[in-house]
Amino acid sequence: MFRNFRMVSYVVFGRGSFNQLDDILSKQRKDDGSIVVFCVDDVHKDKPLKNRLPLKSRDLLLWVNVDVEPKTSYVDQLTKRVKDEAKSLPAGVIGIGGGSTMDISKAVSLMLTNPGSSADYQGWDLIRNPAVYHAGIPTLSGTGAEASRTAILTGPQKKLGLNSDYTVFDQIVLDPELIQGIPTEQWFYTGMDCYIHCIESLTGTYLNAFSKAYGEKSLDLCREVFLKGGPGSEDKLMMASYCGGMSIAYSQVGVAHALSYGLSFVLGLRHGIGNSIAFDYLEEFYPEGVYEFRKMLEKHKIDLPRKITAGLDEEQMNRMIDVALILEPLWENALGKDWKKIMTRDRIAELYRKM
Ligand code: NAD
Ligand code: ZN
Repeated sequence: MFRNFRMVSYVVFGRGSFNQLDDILSKQRKDDGSIVVFCVDDVHKDKPLKNRLPLKSRDLLLWVNVDVEPKTSYVDQLTKRVKDEAKSLPAGVIGIGGGSTMDISKAVSLMLTNPGSSADYQGWDLIRNPAVYHAGIPTLSGTGAEASRTAILTGPQKKLGLNSDYTVFDQIVLDPELIQGIPTEQWFYTGMDCYIHCIESLTGTYLNAFSKAYGEKSLDLCREVFLKGGPGSEDKLMMASYCGGMSIAYSQVGVAHALSYGLSFVLGLRHGIGNSIAFDYLEEFYPEGVYEFRKMLEKHKIDLPRKITAGLDEEQMNRMIDVALILEPLWENALGKDWKKIMTRDRIAELYRKM
């Protein structure tokens, strides 16, 4: 069976396009006075963006904190707050921030219409009811969360997304002005998430012409941004992120991502930095990609953290391996159908111990 996948319904792109949000939302607002919920990364609390939010008097503004990556408990708490304060189903949930905030807004929009805890839906196609209208607006580019059908959450047992057709945004607003002035390390690590998406997609066994078309374009843009730089880099990175997301939507990521999920779960590392740390030890799987990645590290004077697994005990190491092994499609994409023969627990432990 070929995957029949849903894409974002509406996209607006361009510098200043954020100003169109009010107009876009006016079409969703209903006469019954239902409200719109804004989930905004609290990094913007003291920034000019705060005064540009098209809030109406009854709308709900939730400043979300992403000092740690989103947890199912946090999503459940936010969902409860919306239910308590909004009384009826909101007309929309808008996520403004990086991958974490966009994922939180996707998850809240799903949990408003699906019973139980978000932890119940970590997996593939477990969501039963369509979400509330939801829109995503990146203020950090690289994850491709704006394009994807998942909302990645850390739950009590695992780090795994709410993967479903209903997860996909109804609308995204890609305004390159919003990703200006991000601290270099964060910009770099989230950008490397995109670069690694491309390498893992383009070298994977799931590759097809659809994924290749998006992956190659995204990779070219990443090279322009991270090896050359210069004017227009924000526009390019924003499109690289979107195309990288589209590439993996029809293929998969690979070894770095699988290992990174384990690092995040046990050590609380962020996705972008976890991918970067893992990727640097994957020369045997992605020789050219790792070589180019190191040039990017050097150009931007990024010192990767080292020896991060040195203090882990046996149990933590096993937990990390368990989390990585749940991600079967990633391993299969990277190493083929017989991946279990290649990637044993010992082999994964050996890779983790190097990091
Ligand atoms: P993030 O959203 O976790 O944010 C990282 C930091 O950057 C935070 O401190 C945040 O406050 C800050 N930040 C955001 N915008 C900023 C701005 N404009 N200026 C200054 N600081 C800003 O980072 P991310 O790398 O975009 O996202 C990582 C998350 O995305 C992880 O939770 C990961 O699991 C998830 N993810 C999701 C998908 C998907 O398809 N859904 C794909 C990859 C990763
Ligand atoms: Zn990623």
